[in-house]
Amino acid sequence: MRTVFHGGQVFDATNHDIADGDVAVEDGRIVEVGTGLDGDDEVDCAGATVLPGFIDCHVHFTVSGNLDPMHAVRTPFSLRFFEAARNMQATLAAGITSIREAGGSDLGIKVARDQGLIDGPRMTISITALSQTGGHCDDWQVCGASVPTFGVPHPGLPDPIVDGPDQMRRKVRELVRAGADVIKVCTSGGVLSPRDDPRHGHFRDAELSVLVEEAAAAGIWVMAHAQATDGIKAAVRNGIRSIEHGIYLDDEAIEMMLDRGTYLVPTLMAPRGVLEAADAGMAVPPEAVVKTKMVMEAHSASISAAIAAGVNVAMGTDSGVTPHGRNLEELALMVECGMTPERALVATTRTAAELLGVEADVGTLEPGKLADMVLVDGDPRQVDTLPDRIRAVYIGGRSITHQTQADVGDAAEAGVSRSLRAPLPRREG
Ligand SMILES: [Zn+2]
Repeated sequence: MRTVFHGGQVFDATNHDIADGDVAVEDGRIVEVGTGLDGDDEVDCAGATVLPGFIDCHVHFTVSGNLDPMHAVRTPFSLRFFEAARNMQATLAAGITSIREAGGSDLGIKVARDQGLIDGPRMTISITALSQTGGHCDDWQVCGASVPTFGVPHPGLPDPIVDGPDQMRRKVRELVRAGADVIKVCTSGGVLSPRDDPRHGHFRDAELSVLVEEAAAAGIWVMAHAQATDGIKAAVRNGIRSIEHGIYLDDEAIEMMLDRGTYLVPTLMAPRGVLEAADAGMAVPPEAVVKTKMVMEAHSASISAAIAAGVNVAMGTDSGVTPHGRNLEELALMVECGMTPERALVATTRTAAELLGVEADVGTLEPGKLADMVLVDGDPRQVDTLPDRIRAVYIGGRSITHQTQADVGDAAEAGVSRSLRAPLPRREG
């Protein structure tokens, strides 16, 4: 059975061009991209553009946009799993067909999707975001209690706190055992955590080099929540693959990233989301609001400088801080920071797939790739209104609107094979 997506325009993300074209799909994979294609079945794409399914490199499915710590206190333990299922559906419906989970989702959530129990994007999971004592993911509060950000540690979600190289080695092995596809570490303080500072670097080289060494031995990469200049440089120096947030970049940090091919995932929506929530009357902790206001300007300036310098930027939103399903709002913010709309679309498809190591299967419309596709009404380069113009979403060639559980199971079986590669080289600097 060959289905042709016919009569629209195509942005295949192999370059920056949009042109009239058709896409032929067979057995959940793309078999041909061209003009005047024939098939057994046809999807009318008149007035629409066909794009690769979008990829968000930074989401938290077990967090649902409520930043009031008392909300976390009142949330029953297992409710987070059901909320994650809803958040995954909302993300897929928004046109996001693959994601990287930056902390919270365990292997069971990913497998539930792969087996078709719940709908959602294909997942690359980090499970736990590693943090030093007093760091960004230390849930300890001044009252002495812990208030969970991503969920209370459980057998599928190892405790995030680690200090010293020996503990680091063991913790990475524990995460690999738990099913992590990537290791997430916080190499600086953050905005929402009450007792740290986004301008302070966290973890020392001795800890980060063991982290990267152990991850590499398991064939996986590392992503770093890194806001402070120090924390960014330590991450890059030690061969971590992507800098998340990147609030305080300086010229040297940008040079180091260019030199080593480090990716940047801006998450421009996140600080805006914190202020939006506070303005709407949500009980966001006051210190988080103060820190958010402190970093906003530096964040935009850093991302703009990195874009101008040609750093590899991959789209990521930190959804969970903001409600899930609004992911594509990030593109307009990247364009505000100096990206062309075409480059923002590539950052949300091909470059994101490369960062995740799933580019053999997704990220562009090319023969052999999985038929993860989005139909956008009109011109996708008008990124301001892009989130409102998603006409249809296909994952593994199947429309999510007519999807059965069996269909999802088949599509998942088609799978995404992550390419295993050496970590970015560690160099002195
Ligand atoms: Zn995050």
